[in-house]
Amino acid sequence: MADHAVVIAGGGPTGLMLAGELALAGVDVAIVERRANQDLVGSRAGGLHSRAIEVLDQRGIADRFLSQGKLFQVVHFHIPLDISDFPTRHNYVLGLWQNHIERILAEWVGELAVTIYRGREVTDIAQDDTGVDVALSDGQSLRAEYLVGCDGGRSLVRKAAGIAFPGWDATTSWLIAEVETAEEPKWGFHQDALGSHGIGKVENGGSARMVLTEQPLRPGSEPTLRDVSEALVAVYGTDYGIHSPTWISRFTDMTRQAAAYRDRRVLLAGDAAHVHPPVGGQGLNTGVQDAVNLGWKLAQVVKQASPESLLDTYHAERHPVAARVLHNTMAQVALRRPDDRTKALGETMSELLGMDEPRRRIAAMMSGHPLRSRRGTQAARTTHARSGSAHRQRPAAGLYPAA
Ligand SMILES: Cc1cc2nc3c(=O)[nH]c(=O)nc-3n(C[C@H](O)[C@H](O)[C@H](O)COP(=O)(O)OP(=O)(O)OC[C@H]3O[C@@H](n4cnc5c(N)ncnc54)[C@H](O)[C@@H]3O)c2cc1C
Repeated sequence: MADHAVVIAGGGPTGLMLAGELALAGVDVAIVERRANQDLVGSRAGGLHSRAIEVLDQRGIADRFLSQGKLFQVVHFHIPLDISDFPTRHNYVLGLWQNHIERILAEWVGELAVTIYRGREVTDIAQDDTGVDVALSDGQSLRAEYLVGCDGGRSLVRKAAGIAFPGWDATTSWLIAEVETAEEPKWGFHQDALGSHGIGKVENGGSARMVLTEQPLRPGSEPTLRDVSEALVAVYGTDYGIHSPTWISRFTDMTRQAAAYRDRRVLLAGDAAHVHPPVGGQGLNTGVQDAVNLGWKLAQVVKQASPESLLDTYHAERHPVAARVLHNTMAQVALRRPDDRTKALGETMSELLGMDEPRRRIAAMMSGHPLRSRRGTQAARTTHARSGSAHRQRPAAGLYPAA
């Protein structure tokens, strides 16, 4: 049995960020990751919001991400919202797919010499007064002072710790697929009586990435190429001769949050603590910020520089933030409904968001910032006007910040 001060279940974006934070603080930390390497099938998150980039900047690694993506000075909440007047150096969204974000984080964690047990799963946990025994799928086990579940929405750690995951069941499901097409598809966004749909080009390739609202709702089941074909025919009247899929997945608007982020020596972060639909591109970003809030606190406690009660401030500070993310994604999904009354509500919302104060408030929330004071925003606007807007590009659209 190997001993570590902290074991992290799951080496996705949240687990990697947390491992980096702990390693920087000199804590002996290890990750257990099911995947044999960092490769990710499919696209998932499309970028980093302003606050997450600020946090990476504080660690001296923001440029590693910025040099590989595209900058957009808008965030989405129902409509594109300008953030060029935000009082930050990083007044933009970075468009960068999750596989690149994970690769860069994994390289950083590698430099910090974090132990990663790859190709095996956490299968069970048992905690006592001094630590946690972590059983692995290869029959081995680890002993840790603290275990953090960063193992995604279906978190085994959350379930094994008996932490409730209350919330709302799915009302809508979407198919997401990356496929080849025999004919040129209708690129861009399309709204109809079923909902909104989108088809875009996959970076560095000839294939298409499509997100299609499904009717009826089909949560839980594994989607097939035939499902994608039927969904395309229902929306566009043709399946464009799709073939050779590299990724087919289904996501829903199921919305849930862990009732507690800590049970004694077990903590939760990222999707293990909160799941919601990907509108506005907030999941990965929220997980990275969970990790940064938790990392230094856990380091302090492990080094006995602070009392254990410091860990309770993690729940107190981060649970309300994710609760607000869940709330805003529910609102955004509702605003996408295609009936006339929802359209009227959406037009009213667009009118409100056209005003300065509502735009700033909602855009700050989407960017992961606490609400800034009017004075700060005004000062930044003056600086911004002097320096010019170097990053302004076409607005990003859709489910991702920068698809
Ligand atoms: C279609 C789609 C689009 C999205 N778009 C965006 C977006 O634009 N912006 C955004 O911020 N977010 C977006 N998200 C959400 C984002 O992908 C997630 O919020 C993010 O991946 C969460 O990171 P995580 O590290 O908490 O969990 P995960 O990425 O799920 O990582 C969990 C890790 O744990 C591992 N694991 C699981 N169980 C075990 C176990 N028992 N033992 C060991 N390892 C285990 C997994 O292999 C995985 O590597 C999107 C999601 C989807 C599905």
